[in-house]
Amino acid sequence: MTSDPLFSSQPPAGLWEALQSSSSRPRLHSRPLSSFEHGISDVSELTDGETTNRYDLLCPRAQCGSIVLKKGAAVMKERESLQIESSDIPTHPLLPPLPSVPESSQWWLVTPTPMAFENVGFSRPVESLPLSPSGKKLKLLACAECDLGPLGWSEEGGSEFWLACSRVGYRSG
Ligand SMILES: [Zn+2]
Repeated sequence: MTSDPLFSSQPPAGLWEALQSSSSRPRLHSRPLSSFEHGISDVSELTDGETTNRYDLLCPRAQCGSIVLKKGAAVMKERESLQIESSDIPTHPLLPPLPSVPESSQWWLVTPTPMAFENVGFSRPVESLPLSPSGKKLKLLACAECDLGPLGWSEEGGSEFWLACSRVGYRSG
């Protein structure tokens, strides 16, 4: 039996790039929260008594810009910060450090299922992090396209998905 060169060889150089550019969408402009003069109030709006995200939430990596969540799909909540970084892995420079526990921090809360997201990736439950306030293991959220994260967290089996307001890009202008 001879091996079929079609299946044993690597794709020709440049094929993946060609595939990617042919399917690429117009690149979206992603602004960090820190670029807005009035911070969270510039990127939120009041909808039916809830503070929702005024813009689509994007991957914070400018070269990626994948849509994580459509505008209006999350509610802003101020709650106690949470450790979502293992202390032995340096945080990506595009991801601002979160306030240390138990200081409060601003989050975009998405419920009740991950179906609300456009694109998001989930880690497995992370053994090396402290448990959530209700004693569950944490799963971390990342960009589904380029894996940049953690952008937020959820509990194992939970129905609440929390994105750090400072760790997503905003599709403004
Ligand atoms: Zn990305």
